[in-house]
Amino acid sequence: MAKLALLSVSDKTGITNFAAELVARGYEVISTGGTLKALTDAGVKATAVEDITGFPEMLDGRVKTLHPRIHAGILAKRDNPEHMAELAKNNINPIDLICVNLYPFKETIQKAGVTDGEAIEQIDIGGPSMLRAAAKNYQDVTVITDRADYAEFLKRYDANEVDAKYRRGLAAKVFRQTAAYDALIASYMTSDAFPDKLTLTYEKVEDMRYGENSHQKAAYYKEPIPARYSLANAKQLHGKALSYNNTRDADAALRIIADFTEQPTVVALKHMNPCGIGVGDDLLSAWNLAYEADPISIFGGIIALNRKVDLATAEKMHALFLEIIIAPAFDEDAYAVLAKKKNLRIMTLDFAKMDTHHQDLVTVLGGALLQDADTAHESIADFKVVSKAQPTQAQLEALEFGQTVVKHVKSNAIVVTTANQTLGVGAGQMNRIDSLKIAVDKAKEKDNFKNAVVASDAFFPMDDCVEYAAQNGIKAIVEPGGSIKDQASIDKADEYGIALIFTGVRHFKH
Ligand code: 5GP
Repeated sequence: MAKLALLSVSDKTGITNFAAELVARGYEVISTGGTLKALTDAGVKATAVEDITGFPEMLDGRVKTLHPRIHAGILAKRDNPEHMAELAKNNINPIDLICVNLYPFKETIQKAGVTDGEAIEQIDIGGPSMLRAAAKNYQDVTVITDRADYAEFLKRYDANEVDAKYRRGLAAKVFRQTAAYDALIASYMTSDAFPDKLTLTYEKVEDMRYGENSHQKAAYYKEPIPARYSLANAKQLHGKALSYNNTRDADAALRIIADFTEQPTVVALKHMNPCGIGVGDDLLSAWNLAYEADPISIFGGIIALNRKVDLATAEKMHALFLEIIIAPAFDEDAYAVLAKKKNLRIMTLDFAKMDTHHQDLVTVLGGALLQDADTAHESIADFKVVSKAQPTQAQLEALEFGQTVVKHVKSNAIVVTTANQTLGVGAGQMNRIDSLKIAVDKAKEKDNFKNAVVASDAFFPMDDCVEYAAQNGIKAIVEPGGSIKDQASIDKADEYGIALIFTGVRHFKH
């Protein structure tokens, strides 16, 4: 009796060649409608599934292979005499090889204007059933769901190396594939942002050279349909592959610059925190402000710019050692200058396609936490002046800028800014006064410090922050408020005659 191979694929790339190779190796090929047509058109001999089942394909193809003559042929244990006797009694031949890839559900739901009915119709039923049956019975059946495995299978077949270990690997691949397929369907159908089961699926982009440190292995995965405004959709035009740290930093920079759309803005970032942000009338002036904010920390930094990069700005950036430059586009001459550096990663992303709402997932030992991303944004209209002193319009604008920046800084976060430039960033200290001192002391070196204001990501637990800021020349502060000692901070602001504003919204970023 010839070995049987059942081929039923939506993606028909390479299938006729694979089928011909199977026939050449003595397989008898069984196939479903479209696949059968592709094979016979190419002159490959194959039998229709209907001829095996004795049943026509039904219900617009919803039922093709869902039949005991197929499934018993896959699932029978060859070393179980009773199974084999049952097959024989019912005149069913065992099937040795299943090659199936599934209806293109993912591609379908991405199509513009697709209806729910069209999406639902692309939920493959018979395909996963066959794949899972074959994968369960991998001791006896070879199951192929990835086109990339056609050549490998033939090679192994010829070398007599299609063993149980190889088939188990293929079976595992099947269960990953069907699980991912179902996870995508589940997320398509789920409207609950926090469902009872998190059915995640990510696709490997690449293995990385290493993780956060060289002794840690790492790989980068993306969502099956990543947000349009995400690193997964950025194009790398030049330079070395992104490292693990690069990837996280570039993501952090993209999150920050998404909050600055109205004017040309440059974000310089190091180790997940902004080291300089500048907003200008043109990109060059924005760059100058971001650079001058901290000319030391920017070294080896990640730069995100929200406008097409021009030659003048490119020349400034070329003069520095930078890791990544990401922008919506680059002028040709600007790109040519930047591309002179072999390793510099130059990337583009469509900044017009920012999706604002998303969720963030982090893992903890034994679990994961899912939350809405912090996309809250307070503007001057949300500010509540709690001090006797009223802020000037210029101070209000600076406070709004500071408030926009501070939520992107690791807590405890304090930033000292003007209305268009960060002057000092205090990040990640375990107490607020240390973050404040770092930010204020750094800002004091700047010529334009006299116009500087302070923004804090969370409330001041005591009046020492207001005191330190006021003693060092700060005239206006914005913070969420909400401490039991708020009054002490307000009193301190009044004692020094400076403006204190509460927003009511905390922006921890741990
Ligand atoms: P074809 O193009 O050969 O007509 O169909 C191939 C596709 O049909 C494959 O993606 C395969 O997974 C799927 N398929 C095979 N059998 C069945 C079935 O009984 N029901 C459904 N819904 N899909 C099937």
